[in-house]
Amino acid sequence: MKEFVRYIPPIHELQKDARFSTLTQTYRIDTNEMSSILKNVVSTIREQLLSACWEGELPGSQPFIDELFQKIEYELKHVYQYTIKRVINATGTILHTNLGRARLSQNAMDHVIQAAQNYSNLEYKLAEGERGSRHAHVEELIKRLTGAEAAMVVNNNAAAVFLILRALAFQKEVIVSRGQLVEIGGSFRISSIMEESGAKLVEVGTTNKTHLYDFEKAISEDTAMIMKVHTSNFKVIGFTKSVETSDLVDLAKRHTSVIFYEDLGSGALYDYSQHGIGEEPVVSDVLNQGVDIVSFSGDKLLGGPQAGVIAGKKILIDQLKKHQLARVLRVDKMTLAALEGTLLDYSKGTTAIQTIPVVRDLLATKKMLQIRTNQFIDRLTQQSSGFTVTSKESTSQVGGGTMPDVELPTVVVHIKSESMSVETLAYRLRTENTPPIVARIQKEELLLDLRTVTVEEEDIIIDALVSIDRMMSKEL
Ligand SMILES: *Cc1c(COP(=O)(O)O)cnc(C)c1O
Repeated sequence: MKEFVRYIPPIHELQKDARFSTLTQTYRIDTNEMSSILKNVVSTIREQLLSACWEGELPGSQPFIDELFQKIEYELKHVYQYTIKRVINATGTILHTNLGRARLSQNAMDHVIQAAQNYSNLEYKLAEGERGSRHAHVEELIKRLTGAEAAMVVNNNAAAVFLILRALAFQKEVIVSRGQLVEIGGSFRISSIMEESGAKLVEVGTTNKTHLYDFEKAISEDTAMIMKVHTSNFKVIGFTKSVETSDLVDLAKRHTSVIFYEDLGSGALYDYSQHGIGEEPVVSDVLNQGVDIVSFSGDKLLGGPQAGVIAGKKILIDQLKKHQLARVLRVDKMTLAALEGTLLDYSKGTTAIQTIPVVRDLLATKKMLQIRTNQFIDRLTQQSSGFTVTSKESTSQVGGGTMPDVELPTVVVHIKSESMSVETLAYRLRTENTPPIVARIQKEELLLDLRTVTVEEEDIIIDALVSIDRMMSKEL
């Protein structure tokens, strides 16, 4: 095989092949870049020939040249493609952390594009012609929507927790109920973040029960804060007791130097419980009860970009804004624009709120999903006969560690193939289609939950299934 190395055409000759310039144009790269890819491919082939592990056509023939250019095209496809790809989420899990959590509303998207494409008054006061603060932009909206005296935004809620502990409780004691020392997403532990921040954790109560007197006894001269953590991603059932927020507010008030902070996790701005969905506290209600400061995520129930919102007493927020870490944890203009767009939707009332995908998908009823699922099945069965497709009652999850005990009633598409395993079909949907489609596999069944699929995405899924069906019949 070694001797065939000398039949590989020289680079300058390969550069004259029509495909060299066609591919250069198709991928809009410059000639030097194309030449270096060509050289790499040739040198890999050369090495494989020398070590006798080349399995392709042998040099000196036209098929060899064809194969070489196929390899170059494969290379180009891989090098010049984004690794972050749009994905169709057919799992029904709304805040799927692995799939990017919240989808943004149209207003939020448009606003991001404006902020990204142009200069903006990010840190500039237009009337005065002077330097301004990036905190100013969403602060008024957050104040209006939550009733807080002041607010600010950082990178995510984990950063918010860290900043609050570091700036307001450094080397002081923070009292937390044992039942609330949560771990979220496998990497965020309240106890660890507390240690990193330099605040001293004082655990009170037991896993299932904490009483007001546990907190009372723990308060000392060194206490800076009572912290309540929303147990977002689990629920303790049975013989339990936690202390009412109002009791902790009173306790903190009796000790004037003690701050009462609540990490709300999701931070709902909309009352989902009015639709019988979960018991997530609304941010304004929590602040109304007298909690000094709260923090929550931008991309959980809020339905905005990754961010951590901090809201509460002005005197505390001012301290946070001044802290060095505020700069370290600050958010980008695109995040601020996305958040402002989302918050503006909230401030416009119920109809605008429905334009936020997270809210819309959470409120979608079983009846609506039944209709869409039936239509989907009709259209799919008209175009392809290779699958057995039925509808089935099921439940969707909220996801993102939010409302773990809530099961949203849904109707799903159940797809079965005689010639392909559930795993193979799921794999082909994920890898052979653009955009990839992520389905739900539950108890050996492949399910599509249209709750998290837009109407326009339904067509893409149908086309993908039809094309898999066609290939399947060819393979048989
Ligand atoms: C999700 C969550 C966090 C972390 O929020 P991120 O925005 O994901 O950083 C912190 N605390 C609680 C209670 C949470 O639920």
